[in-house]
This record gives sequence, C-alpha cells and structure tokens, in this order.
Amino acid sequence: MSDFKSGLEYALQQDQNDELKSYRNIFHIPKDTDGNELIYMTGNSLGLQPKQTKDYVNQELEDWANLGVEGHTEAKNPWLPYHEFLTQSMANVVGAKPIEVIVMNTLTANLHFMMVSFYQPTEKRFKILIESDAFPSDKYAVESQLRHHGFDDKEGLILWKPRKNEELLRYEDLETILKEQGGEIALIMIGGVNYYTGQYFDLKRITELGHKFGCKVGFDCAHGAGNVELNLHDSGADFAVWCTYKYLNSGPGSLAGCFVHERHAHNKTLNRFTGWWSHNKQTRFNMRDEFDQLSGAEGWQLSNPPILSMAAIRASLDLFNEVGIKKLTQKSKKLTSYFEFLINQLGEDVIRIITPKNPAERGCQLSIQVINADKSLHDKLTKAGVISDWREPDVIRCAPVPLYNSFEDVYHLVEKLKSILNE
Ligand SMILES: *Cc1c(COP(=O)(O)O)cnc(C)c1O
Repeated sequence: MSDFKSGLEYALQQDQNDELKSYRNIFHIPKDTDGNELIYMTGNSLGLQPKQTKDYVNQELEDWANLGVEGHTEAKNPWLPYHEFLTQSMANVVGAKPIEVIVMNTLTANLHFMMVSFYQPTEKRFKILIESDAFPSDKYAVESQLRHHGFDDKEGLILWKPRKNEELLRYEDLETILKEQGGEIALIMIGGVNYYTGQYFDLKRITELGHKFGCKVGFDCAHGAGNVELNLHDSGADFAVWCTYKYLNSGPGSLAGCFVHERHAHNKTLNRFTGWWSHNKQTRFNMRDEFDQLSGAEGWQLSNPPILSMAAIRASLDLFNEVGIKKLTQKSKKLTSYFEFLINQLGEDVIRIITPKNPAERGCQLSIQVINADKSLHDKLTKAGVISDWREPDVIRCAPVPLYNSFEDVYHLVEKLKSILNE
C-alpha cells in the first residue's frame, strides 16, 4: 500500500475508481449552516443515517396507525417475529451462525445479561480480566458484577496493561498473567477493537488462551461490528456484545447485538435471567405454562422488542447485506492506509499514530497523538468543518467509514489539520 500519492487529484481519482462510491449518496451527510457538507469522521461514535431508514420506520408507524394490536400478526412485517428479520444479516456482519445472534436491549445491559450466564465465580476462581484502557461502561459493569457476587472490585479486577511508554497491548503479557493467575480468573472480557487505540485483537488467540486456563471469554465488539471482519463463530468466544449505533448506523441509543456461541445454544442449565421472550415461541402465548427455555441466543431475550428501533436496524443491515462485509473491509483498509500515509507526511515530530500499523490489527479508526496539543486543536478542527473526536490529553480519533466517507474527505481532513498545525 505504499503507492499512494499526495494531492487532491489523486484522492478524486481514487473516489472515481471506488466500487462503493455510490453508497455515500444514500446517506444523509450533516452540513454546516451554509449548507456545505461537513467532514464526518465520527462514525465510530454515531453512524450516519441511511436515507431509507425513514421509510422503514414509517412503514411500522403506518401499520401501527392502521392496525393497532393486529400489527403483531398482520403488519407488512409482522411484529411478533420481527427480530427474526434481522438475524441472518446480523449474523453475516459479525461472522456468526443465525442461532448464535440476537438483537435485543442495549449494549451494557447485554453485557450484564451475558455475565449472569458466563461469570459464575467460585471462591477460588472469581476474578475478571479486562484491558486496562477498557471503555468506562465495561469497566463499571464488570466491577459491579464482582460486587454483586460479594467480591472486592479491586481485588477481583485484573488489568491487561500496555508496557511502559507503549499504548498497544501485547499477547505475551496476557499469557504471563494467565500463567500466573489463570486459575483464579473466571472471565476474560476484552473490547474486540479497543475504543481508544483502535487496536483490533486476535479474538481467536485470546479465546484459545483463556479456555486453556479454564476461563470463560467474552468480547465487547462495539467498535468492531460493521468495521472489521469479526468471525465470532470461529473465534470460539463464549459470548460477544455490540451496539448498532456506531458503525452499524442504526440511530442514537438503538438496540444492541448479542452473540452466544453455538456450543451453549441448547444448554438449559446455564444460569440466566429470563422473561416471556425467553420462552419457547410455540407456546409463549399459552401464558400459563411452566417455563420452557428457548434455544440459541434468542433464549436470552426478556421482552417483546421495540419495533421502531428494529426497523432502523433493518434499514441499515439491508445495506450491509447488499455490500457484504468483505468488500467493505477491503475498501476500509485502503482508505485508512491512505489516511495513514497522509498523516505520516506531517512528520513524526508533530504527530504520532497510536493505532497499529498492520491493517489486520485495526479497523478504520486512527488514533492520532498530536505533540504538544490541547483541546483547542479539536475546536479549530470543528470550526473548519471536521467532526472528529478528542480524547484527553492529546489524541484525536478519526474514523473514515468506507460506506460513506471518501478519499476526498480524508484528503481535506489532513489538509485542514496541516494548516491548523502550521498556524
Ligand atoms: C460505545 C460503547 C459502549 C456504550 O454502551 P451503551 O450501553 O450502548 O451506552 C460501551 N462499551 C464500549 C466498548 C463501547 O464502545
């Protein structure tokens, strides 16, 4: 990927040759007050709205208006089995089998529900291992699980840390922790793609390592789903969770995804929290039956789901299905490597990319440390029409998303950054 060229001409030419270029037009791109399109680099925080989302949501609003409760069975897309319309597409996006995937609840809620089943501490084996720079919500969630089971949340939490003066995590260090304390660790819970550094972990390697030491292994793939080829089934992980409002473009606070590996699909003895939606579908509405556990990831549902949110997810997944995650990640690798090429031209004395250099160890996001910068840099970028994300003390995160960001976007972003740094 070293044949990139600088200059606008090259960027425009890459866009011309881009097989996926037409997809940008089917998204709403936010504009400034003068009507100019902003350079939107925060699809890792909230993905943009596909234009067709409105139609998908309107369809359900209309059916509700016209049919009332009958919509459960009579709507164009009946609400009773509505979540099933999402299953195959979502399974494709995360590399899972349909029986392993369900869309339900929100992300942190799903993480808790998964820990109800897969964090089963004993007096000897009760610790939870996470990455030291885990997303705060994940850290709070695992700490509260430790307390919930009567353990000290400091003693019970083991952090996989980067070495001194490094940001990225090394597998050798994870192995060392496991060799020393593996017998005390009940659960390994790692962000599949770290939200801060953009490091995409080898899920299979971590899972195999964890299982070798008798630990359960789960991943939070909020920054992975729709961004990288996750291959969750092949990873062998016990569970995974992710949200759909980041790379999956399904709207603020939309429902989350959940993966439970096939080997647990028919295990009815696993501890879990249940509701009527975890009950056998065939007899759910008999209402007075003894509880009959539904198989597969579906069996972790509690409630009848919010159809309006699912309609937005469906609108987005239909696009992912059309393109396919393979083509998407192909473009993504090129776009992000081009971004890296331009950033590196600014010089290492000014800027340093924290995210791994190897395209197989990252998604589209680059986390860029700007030497001697403070938040005013981010404010200037925003004023210049770039929507990016600032992390204290000195890191900008930018995520060129292959579905709607262009080479031209990336070119202008770096040009604007350059001129601000030269001020
Ligand atoms: C975005 C994100 C969250 C947010 O959690 P919600 O429950 O959706 O509010 C949690 N964890 C990770 C790793 C995230 O990237």
